[in-house]
Amino acid sequence: MKIFFQRTVPMAALIMAFILCGGCGAAESMPREEAYGDQSGEEMRRNTGQYAEGAWRSTDVAMGTVIQQTLYAPREEASAVSAECMELLEKLEGEELSWRLDGSEVYRINASAHEEGGCALPEDMALLLEQCMEISESSEGAFDITLGSLTGLWNIDRWASEGVQEVSLPSGEEVKEALSLCGSEKLKLESGPGARLFMPEGMRLDLGAVGKGVALSRLRTLLEERPEVSGAVISLGGSILTYGVKPDGSPWRVAITNPFDTAENVGILSLEGQWCVSTSGDYERYVEADGVRYHHILDPATGYPADTRVRGVSILSKDGLLSDALSTACFILGPEKGMELAGRYGAEALFVMEDGELILSEGMKRYFTKNDSYRK
Ligand code: ADP
Ligand code: MG
Repeated sequence: MKIFFQRTVPMAALIMAFILCGGCGAAESMPREEAYGDQSGEEMRRNTGQYAEGAWRSTDVAMGTVIQQTLYAPREEASAVSAECMELLEKLEGEELSWRLDGSEVYRINASAHEEGGCALPEDMALLLEQCMEISESSEGAFDITLGSLTGLWNIDRWASEGVQEVSLPSGEEVKEALSLCGSEKLKLESGPGARLFMPEGMRLDLGAVGKGVALSRLRTLLEERPEVSGAVISLGGSILTYGVKPDGSPWRVAITNPFDTAENVGILSLEGQWCVSTSGDYERYVEADGVRYHHILDPATGYPADTRVRGVSILSKDGLLSDALSTACFILGPEKGMELAGRYGAEALFVMEDGELILSEGMKRYFTKNDSYRK
């Protein structure tokens, strides 16, 4: 390990802001910030919910990020649905996806799937892992949920979110060793009823690249069971769900953050009905050490933060897991291969390049309006 003192204390990143046009026609943007995943529960919950103009709006913390909800529903029901959404997110993190919390499925898998006989999987988890393994294969390994040893070694999330002044970078040897414990192709999944997973010793799952996307789909299912909610926008850090209709019938407006100035946007997506938008960027969680930016999206080919000309990628899809997994994969693959991959899944992509260029898939152009004042 090499110890560096950071030149700058990284501010927790603003990933993607969403802007809602209220009934009055004025654009309303909401403040965003990131928080650290360990600190869920009452201590970190800062519910600022209030009801106005037919909508419940709240800001909260779950799954290591800031959750912003706008729910169009009658006053007496809106806050209860909002609380249900928060409960769903806390359960998803604590009981299924967290690799830190010892009550979760992923924690249990990491502790036992290397044993002879592997470990039994609930149906939902088997399906999720199967989809992830498939995306791993089709992205030529760029997206890989078995990077736990490597993400643990880099520990960038923790550096980036605690304002740590002193960071330790792993040595080349350490990276090589951690990388040797990764690789989706080494996973063995027996799917169907009685599904089982087998992992080599030392391998660890990290579902950080899809957790919020999975959450979007679960939230959508919850909202579908609550007919009193006519429309909603729920933002989980860099992943956003739009649902239903706005009372005035206008489209949802989702702003895509400008990586060069995260308080600004590069443009707006105008979306009707239900969509998932996920963004991966090198400005989300990072540290700067000795003049080099280390961010949280790792290239499985090298073991180091992906070094492409991409600053941010947004993916638009009907499916949450796809939007989230593909945004991570496309960040690593770059625009050429990334566009091709997104297209194969029927998803639309928008790349913000290092030189400021915006590269959009044909379909994305239908929804995107560039911000006239966008500058690199
Ligand atoms: P965020 O979670 O900040 O929205 P991403 O969806 O791009 O951003 O996911 C990044 C997270 O996924 C990292 O913090 C790490 O846990 C994990 N990760 C990093 N590199 C990869 C990769 N190549 N494939 C899959 N997961 C990754
Ligand atoms: Mg992702």
